[in-house]
Amino acid sequence: MADKVIYLDNAATTRVSDGVLAAMLPYFGDTYGNPSSIYEFSMQSKKALVAAREEIAAALNCEPSEIYFTSGGSEADNWALYGTAEALREKGRHIITTKVEHHAVLHACEWLEMKGWRVSYIGVDENGIVKLDELKRAVSSETVLISVMAANNEIGTLQPVAQIGKFAKERGICFHTDAVQAFGHIPMDVRAMNIDMLSASGHKLNGPKGIGFLYVRQGTALPSMIRGGGQERGRRAGTENVPGIVGFGQAVREAGAAMKERAEYECALRDYFMDEVLRRIPYARVNGSRKDRLPNNVNFSFQFIEGESLLIMLDMQGICASSGSACTAGSLEPSHVLMSLGLPEEVVHGSIRFTLSRDTTKEEIDFVIDRMEEIVAKLREMSPFYSEVAGRIRR
Ligand SMILES: *Cc1c(COP(=O)(O)O)cnc(C)c1O
Repeated sequence: MADKVIYLDNAATTRVSDGVLAAMLPYFGDTYGNPSSIYEFSMQSKKALVAAREEIAAALNCEPSEIYFTSGGSEADNWALYGTAEALREKGRHIITTKVEHHAVLHACEWLEMKGWRVSYIGVDENGIVKLDELKRAVSSETVLISVMAANNEIGTLQPVAQIGKFAKERGICFHTDAVQAFGHIPMDVRAMNIDMLSASGHKLNGPKGIGFLYVRQGTALPSMIRGGGQERGRRAGTENVPGIVGFGQAVREAGAAMKERAEYECALRDYFMDEVLRRIPYARVNGSRKDRLPNNVNFSFQFIEGESLLIMLDMQGICASSGSACTAGSLEPSHVLMSLGLPEEVVHGSIRFTLSRDTTKEEIDFVIDRMEEIVAKLREMSPFYSEVAGRIRR
């Protein structure tokens, strides 16, 4: 392995910031009281929990009592889907989602289909933006939930969440959004956007792994996720992950304070990266919307190569990137997100995702582009299809 790692896989997970680590440490050490206990000693844990909940609620423009901590984004997504289906089973058994959701939503929907629910998977345009007309047409008197992600984890495309929220509200349908990639990176306001439920995860915004939350608007029908003690207002039992929650709160504080500056920095680097690659490497394309895009997401397809081979050769240079999502990496299934864009399968197989952070430097990006230019050329030399095309061009 190369001695220095260039980490460009921040959609898979992020580094815990120094401030977050420092905030968490006491709760692994001397401050170990159970927040539910009544003696003074445990009050420090209780207070830290309250403060983190308030921090997160302020960031979303909701009440602290509407935040329910979970073990992460996947649990929050599962809860929103299974819970709503269960709560409203007498009202109707139809759910609307999209073809580009994270597997935590898609696989939960597939499970519900096996249990007798009907699910409409709405398509996206060539930029990955959900087809709103198709979504609106899919609604029936049986529809109990619309679940559309705020930002896509593979191609970074931002969905028109506020528009969908307004529509769902007019129709009296519950609206859930998986905001795991969006929260802490772009502004999310659950009131202004008419969001009834929102999933988020600590480790996607420089917080710890294994902690997330589901925002549930006051009055939303949703049964408990875990039954047991009275934690999380009885809806998600189990002694709270105090260090995780404290770390998450600190991560949200830091993300909020730096959001604008960080987004500007990442956007500039992202655009430079995309433009340079398109300029220097032939038969390349950028996947996802150029305009409605997460600040840190870059996704390319290179014709005549396998993304997996590129990934392995970049890894030998110490460069961490991803093909498809982390969850499907290692499987040779083409990405469902890229397939939904209408790309041919061989183009999808030549795809690679880079997700930047505030710590990513221009020097690192330049190094990566140089290596990519060499590696893509080398891989293409070995491709019979490419030599045919290149040969045709020379003649
Ligand atoms: C990472 C991710 C999840 C899963 O979150 P975990 O905390 O890892 O369970 C869900 N949805 C999206 C869009 C993600 O990027």
